[in-house]
Amino acid sequence: MDCALLASRIHEFLEGTLPEAEHEAALEHLAECHACEIVLAETRDVADLVDDDGHTALTNDDRSRMLGNVIDEVAE
Ligand SMILES: [Zn+2]
Repeated sequence: MDCALLASRIHEFLEGTLPEAEHEAALEHLAECHACEIVLAETRDVADLVDDDGHTALTNDDRSRMLGNVIDEVAE
């Protein structure tokens, strides 16, 4: 698994809905890639924001934009 593939799977990864083989590959990549570790932490924070009050405070567009910003920051 590489960074782009992990980024495209990150919501499924957090939800635990990835196939086992992909989940394992994601964990292996995260163990050695600090950039994706940051992206995962940021994505988890956003997911927590939404889950805390039981309402979807952010649209999917918001989430995609925030995730895109994080990936841009990491890439620089
Ligand atoms: Zn990576």
